[in-house]
Amino acid sequence: MAEKTFALKGIVIHTPERDQFEIHENHYLVCQDETVVGVYETLPPEYTGIPVEDFTDKLIIPGMCDMHIHAPQYAFRGLGLHINYREWTNWFELYAFPDESKYADLEYAEMAYEKLVADWQKTPTTRACIYATIHREATGILMQKLDEAGFVAYVGKVNMDRNSIPGLLETTEESITETLAWLDDCAGRYRTVRPMLTPRYTPTCTDELMAFLGQLANEHNIPIQTHLSEGLNEIEWVKALRPVDSCYGEAYDAYGLFGGTVDAVMAHCVYPTEVEFELMTKRKNLMVAHCPQSNINSSGGVAPIRDYLAAGIRVGLATDMAGSNTLSLFRAITDAVHASKAQWAFTERQGDPNLQCTALSLSDAFYLATKGGGALWGKMGSFEPGYHFDAVIIDDTRLRDFRPRSAQERLERVILTSDDREIYAKYIYGRRVL
Ligand code: FE
Repeated sequence: MAEKTFALKGIVIHTPERDQFEIHENHYLVCQDETVVGVYETLPPEYTGIPVEDFTDKLIIPGMCDMHIHAPQYAFRGLGLHINYREWTNWFELYAFPDESKYADLEYAEMAYEKLVADWQKTPTTRACIYATIHREATGILMQKLDEAGFVAYVGKVNMDRNSIPGLLETTEESITETLAWLDDCAGRYRTVRPMLTPRYTPTCTDELMAFLGQLANEHNIPIQTHLSEGLNEIEWVKALRPVDSCYGEAYDAYGLFGGTVDAVMAHCVYPTEVEFELMTKRKNLMVAHCPQSNINSSGGVAPIRDYLAAGIRVGLATDMAGSNTLSLFRAITDAVHASKAQWAFTERQGDPNLQCTALSLSDAFYLATKGGGALWGKMGSFEPGYHFDAVIIDDTRLRDFRPRSAQERLERVILTSDDREIYAKYIYGRRVL
């Protein structure tokens, strides 16, 4: 994987701190051994003569991290807006479960995942936490394709031993043996892709299965991903399934699946109770995957992201394909800001026309998409020295107007209006993948 020492030259933009963009125009971003050395106006003497890829006048940003995405759901993106919130379970019955059950067919999986990975390459994403389906072989196909494309990913064979449809349901024993066989399949097989235990969520996993997964995760230090407090009806359902728990999160925490020891990515977290919020602050390996578009599609809810950040809870950004309709985290950044503004307008503002808006800013949301989620991989999502060298080069020529715009304005326009045509080049661990 190691590539030679080299530099990219262009407009380098990142967010070492959440509250502002750091912009270096016409600078060199130096990579050595898959790692960022630094950002320089002129190359330091020890790097004189290294290869320089000239991206002058193009924007160079850190690779982005999609912290929650269902790979098999890409096939039905852009459907389901007509479903009412009260009937939201119809979304599972109409789209998610029937589509996911198709991945028992490996030819279908091959075709669908090929399309997904090809399209994904033309987005700013370089890393992701991904749900496959319950199917072991199809999950392997997805992992292989991601690995070949150079993506860094945690991928999960999904566990579901109750409350699903025939064809997308395992017995507890099947779920356990298939998970173990899948982990065996993964051992030493991929360069940049790793397994992540994936109990879909409490309603689809029995206590026996959760206990097995918790033990497995903690004994072998395997990270986990699941859903938490996404919808009010879901929270009621979990209460009915586990009446003794003080909150939904405890249904995971009881089995060591809530970021106590091993990393745990919790998608959504829209409606935490006080007790749950408090528990989240204590679990230092927990990360919230904020899915703003999906949350508005499904229930019109907005997760209390500013509160999480203020409490020191780690937060990353996510698409939650196909609760959302796009693979691009640029859209998720826009949605995060929009959702936060609407939340502020209907809560804190209280009709006051003069109140200062405290909603998430563009740099806040950009940070969540890069360094925020990137924390799952350690030093990732920034161009500070020692960070993993994931970089995306943007050519915004098509979007330019006829007046001079600052680099930050150009980035803002890219985030709000660009598509795959603007993704010019991409590096992951210092290796050019696009
Ligand atoms: Fe999800």
